[in-house]
Amino acid sequence: MENAQMELAPVFAGLDVMLQEQLIDRRQKLQVATSQNGYNTDFARLLDEVDAALLRFENGSYGICEVCHDPVEPERLLADPLVNVCLGDLSDKQRHALEDDLQLAAEIQNALLPKSKIASDFWKVDFVYQPASIVSGDYVDVIAHDGEVYFILGDVSGKGLAASLLMSNLHAMFHSLIPLGLPLCDLLSRANRLFCESTRANHYATLICGKMNAKGEVEICNAGHLPPIVVKDGENFPIESSGLPLGMFCDSNFSSSCVRLEQGETLLLFTDGVTEAIDHAGAEFGVQRLLESINGGFASGPKELLANSLSAIDGFRGNAAATDDLTIMALKFDGVKN
Ligand SMILES: [Zn+2]
Repeated sequence: MENAQMELAPVFAGLDVMLQEQLIDRRQKLQVATSQNGYNTDFARLLDEVDAALLRFENGSYGICEVCHDPVEPERLLADPLVNVCLGDLSDKQRHALEDDLQLAAEIQNALLPKSKIASDFWKVDFVYQPASIVSGDYVDVIAHDGEVYFILGDVSGKGLAASLLMSNLHAMFHSLIPLGLPLCDLLSRANRLFCESTRANHYATLICGKMNAKGEVEICNAGHLPPIVVKDGENFPIESSGLPLGMFCDSNFSSSCVRLEQGETLLLFTDGVTEAIDHAGAEFGVQRLLESINGGFASGPKELLANSLSAIDGFRGNAAATDDLTIMALKFDGVKN
């Protein structure tokens, strides 16, 4: 999801004092460590770096890249107040270390994706998960509990590493909350409060959480996400109801809606990386093209349905680069077997 990451700047202006206090605190801790353990080259080097950062505060150059003199990314300063060059001016060694970290993050994220694409005897599930860069801020999950199958598809504000950290936060939260067996709306309210309390004010997620049973009944809670689509024999229709995004207001309630799928019908969920995929001229793929790509898809299995949508998106995008994380999930009700 594109969002207001750039809006950090005015907030950051008020954080100067906090960063400076952090540096002074680090200086004191290093001095204590040195006095207790004796001289240590590592402590001495860090002390030099802290002093250099404090000097940059004094001469007004703190937060300015020492190479290109553009501002250093505020979120990087928050993570490491000693940073003195922007991302574009990292040394080869620093850049390789960052790339290694990202690669590891991608592997960790892949391990969080649902393993099984068959949710139960009655439902077949498949999904496509494509990060815009190395890691994704989209969240897709399928969790079986007590004879029911829960499915979740969400999109965290922002992109890249920060969004992927929030995605793993959502993953941990839902895996802890679902075994409690709460009613779906209560589950979302609880998840909302936890997410709100553990993230910054400009971080939130749009998300759909639902559960489905062996009779084809599906209960859905939509926290500000794009409406899912029911793929029927001859017609497709969206399930429009929606509440507020997760993590936007700590105290918000959610309502659910119920649909019953007949044998062979599919529920399709997707993130805005699908509908906002752009072609070389900047036009958006949109819901209409998505609907066209699944027309006549009633007879298809989830895998073919997703392949059709994906090929329509790829064809539309042509050579234009992906600008956002993209996820689509298809849940097909196979019907009750006698
Ligand atoms: Zn620079």
